[in-house]
Amino acid sequence: MTTRPDCERLDAEDPLAALREQFVLPEGKIYLDGNSLGVLPRATAARVAQVVQHEWGEHLIESWNTAHWIELPQRVGNKIAQLVGAGPNELVVADSTSVNLFKVLSAALTMARADAPQRRAIVSERDNFPTDLYIAEALARERGFELALVDTPEQIGPRLARGDVAVLMLTQVNYRTGRLHDMAALTAAAHAAGALVVWDLAHTAGALPVHLKRDDADFAIGCGYKYLNGGPGAPAFVWVHPRHADRFWQPLAGWMGHAAPFAFDPGYRPAPGIARYLCGTPPVIQTAALECGVDTVLAAAPLGGMDALRSKSLALTELFMRLVGERCGSQGLSLVTPHDAPHRGSQVSYARAEGGYAIVQALIARGVVGDFRAPDILRFGLTPLTLRFVDVWDAVEQLRQVLESGEWRQERFHRKAAVT
Ligand SMILES: *Cc1c(COP(=O)(O)O)cnc(C)c1O
Repeated sequence: MTTRPDCERLDAEDPLAALREQFVLPEGKIYLDGNSLGVLPRATAARVAQVVQHEWGEHLIESWNTAHWIELPQRVGNKIAQLVGAGPNELVVADSTSVNLFKVLSAALTMARADAPQRRAIVSERDNFPTDLYIAEALARERGFELALVDTPEQIGPRLARGDVAVLMLTQVNYRTGRLHDMAALTAAAHAAGALVVWDLAHTAGALPVHLKRDDADFAIGCGYKYLNGGPGAPAFVWVHPRHADRFWQPLAGWMGHAAPFAFDPGYRPAPGIARYLCGTPPVIQTAALECGVDTVLAAAPLGGMDALRSKSLALTELFMRLVGERCGSQGLSLVTPHDAPHRGSQVSYARAEGGYAIVQALIARGVVGDFRAPDILRFGLTPLTLRFVDVWDAVEQLRQVLESGEWRQERFHRKAAVT
């Protein structure tokens, strides 16, 4: 049996322990939802106040130049690039994940149509995040493609082998189960079958090492408000392999993606490289906040960077699964996250036939914040930047008490809010 002092010892030996000082962590709360909304970095409030009061309030429009607002999408993009194995000037911050998916998927379809016009299928997984499927469905309708969904990862290979796949669109870590795809292997399989690959890094960027260039991905997008701690509604990012970036327009050809936005030319000329994937004016305040969040992840660089964060994340998720096994064994929770380290992201999820939503609500009332994903998943995100091993022990102890006491059956834990 693992004891709380065992966990205290793990914290004492944790080389990343000090990184948690970078955050405002509310007293009495164990936050297991950094995969949905990352915590607030200490630097953010002052930085946002500076942007609002000084840069905007005093210097007004001059700040586009003097405070370098206009360069924010590239500057913050270059920082994120370091976390996902992309080169300088290959990645920009812009828009939302959904909108960026629309842009890159559309560009990929345009490429496929030019290079292999007989290919009509966009392949994805039925349990991909719904916005990804909706965007793909809409684009497929618009552009005369077919969205083909597989039910298991094992079906991806055979589906590719049918020879009609234009684009394979995958989210690297499944939002419900936490299953992690092998980017190198699946990208190689898609390329061997003549298809392009779009990777959604929403639950990957800032959580585990990603090697977009090394693994030869074609397109990638990701989220700013999850493991990058950019704050609610933070802008997202978009990366296109340099071999593709200059080939085609993206569909949202706004002025910020023009080669010379301030020439005010009536005709569109795309900027070279990734800059053409910008559309309109960047959200300055939100992007400044995102930069603070990205800096909290980059702060791990001298301590081993994403590899060190991954080691701690695996140790946290492994501990969580072990403790639930030891302490909540007979309580109807079935692990849906793959147990093997190479196949799991930075979260642990359980299915439960009854009461999943209410159990999560009862935990939140006790200060342990996870979330529920319909129809039956209890989801616990474990962010290595902020969590201690004792937090995992305490969280599982609360879970044990909620389950054993049956307190989740109380009516107040069953009322559904708009956001789960
Ligand atoms: C969180 C998430 C999104 C969010 O998209 P928004 O445009 O920011 O709402 C998209 N895709 C996946 C896979 C996600 O996990």
